[in-house]
Amino acid sequence: MDYLQMFICIILTVLSVLLVVCIIQNYRIQNKMQTNEEELLDNYRRLKEAYDKEAEEKRVLTERCEELIRSKEHMQKTAGTDYLTGLPNRFEYTEHLKEELRDMKSDGLLGIIDLDIDNFRNINDSYGHFYGDQTLCEVTRRLTRFVLERDAYLARVGGDGFSVILKDFSERAELEAQVVQLLNYLKDPYHIGEREFMLTLSAGVVVVPTDGTNEQTITKNVDMAKFFAKASGKDTYIFYDDSLDRSVTEKLELQTEVRKAIEDEAFEVYFQPQIDLATEETLGFEALVRWNHPERGVIVPSEFIPVAEECGLIVPLGEFVLRESCKKLKKWQDEGCRQVVAVNLSARQFKDRESMDNVMRIIRETGINPKQLELEITETMALDDLDYAINTLQKLKQLGVSIALDDFGTGYSSLNYLKRLPVNQLKIDKSFMDNVLEDHSDQKIVETIIALAQALNLVVVAEGVENSAQADFLKSVSCDKAQGYLYSKPLREKDMLGFLQTN
Ligand code: C2E
Ligand code: MG
Ligand code: MG
Repeated sequence: MDYLQMFICIILTVLSVLLVVCIIQNYRIQNKMQTNEEELLDNYRRLKEAYDKEAEEKRVLTERCEELIRSKEHMQKTAGTDYLTGLPNRFEYTEHLKEELRDMKSDGLLGIIDLDIDNFRNINDSYGHFYGDQTLCEVTRRLTRFVLERDAYLARVGGDGFSVILKDFSERAELEAQVVQLLNYLKDPYHIGEREFMLTLSAGVVVVPTDGTNEQTITKNVDMAKFFAKASGKDTYIFYDDSLDRSVTEKLELQTEVRKAIEDEAFEVYFQPQIDLATEETLGFEALVRWNHPERGVIVPSEFIPVAEECGLIVPLGEFVLRESCKKLKKWQDEGCRQVVAVNLSARQFKDRESMDNVMRIIRETGINPKQLELEITETMALDDLDYAINTLQKLKQLGVSIALDDFGTGYSSLNYLKRLPVNQLKIDKSFMDNVLEDHSDQKIVETIIALAQALNLVVVAEGVENSAQADFLKSVSCDKAQGYLYSKPLREKDMLGFLQTN
């Protein structure tokens, strides 16, 4: 082998070795790369998993967040919406009113009308809550129609209370015309289920800015106006003015005076005779309260009974009259007097179980013969809760007391309740007697009440008999008894005893 061949051989060997080394190195590198790649893949997988997890969590959170936003929106909506009528409720109304006040132009006017259904409780009580709800929906439908035809806003602000905000008027007279129109529209007969009935509403009205510029003052004044609309006999509207504020103050003062007069025993019971029309004999007396005022002299009940009734003072006052009447009756009974004493019960007294317990206690405690005591209630008092009235009157009758229905003919005069009420006597209201000689309808009403009483075995008394022609008419239609100035005005005890002796 020559050098060249040796050289080539060495070169080849070196190259082979290098090749082997390269192959090994390459294998190693490849191996490492594969390991790295696997590691990378592994890392990638882990990262992806972590990412997916995060993404899922984010998705759940986003969904929850959207749900919360939706429920918040729903809550906001329902918090501001009345569930029955779908109208804005008081909360929403207040917000809206504030907004209207903020956006009001300097020469702008707003009319706020607060409406209340008169005697709505009667519908619920007599026909049930379904009819009550349907009535509210029908009132809502009519009001909605009214506001849609105008630039107006409507809300249900209480059980049977609605508020309307009106903008399209330029003077008070125009607003008044709209209120009249609205109240008349609400008076059309209601057909709910198979029933047809009439409704009336009372409204308080405030003009902004004249009667207030902030939400609190406006609400207070419109409430007051509505209160006066109700107090003045319902089915009407009253615009707020300062005199209402004054009359509230006067009323509060009168309440304080009445409270003090009860403490000072400044009340006195007078007695007005009730006469047998056939024999002219005095059969009994009605106890009528008078206030001996230190400055104003003797004050008649119409000036203080309504206020006392409103603030609850009628309860102690009524108890005073009953106790006084029973004490005097006991004394007269012991002296051999056979006359009956009739005492008026107020609506508050009659409705309150505790007061009625007191009434029964006074009757027992004073030791009277209850046969000579009569209690007078009005039709409206009895009708408010017929079952309660029947129950309470039965308890009184068990004591031996008799019951008269006062002012008969001025309330509902439903034959159905009259049949069920355990009463002994009907008192024909004075208003029918006033024109009984001239007014043919009044004559017929009086005759009908007498016939009705006779059919039901009840005694009839005519109130407010002022002249003998009226008494003759009553005799001709077989009325049992009469009470009135013809015989005597209400008298102090001493004069009453004198009257008994001379008659
Ligand atoms: P009432 O129970 O219907 O009493 C009859 C009223 O008519 C009495 O008025 C009586 O004075 C009046 N009157 C009777 N005859 C005539 C008449 O011929 N002409 C005229 N113009 N009036 C006549 P008074 O005493 O002013 O009482 C008014 C009402 O006040 C009573 O009406 C009764 O509802 C209520 N009242 C009186 N005293 C009491 C009481 O002690 N408790 C309660 N809760 N109410 C009472
Ligand atoms: Mg009476
Ligand atoms: Mg009467």
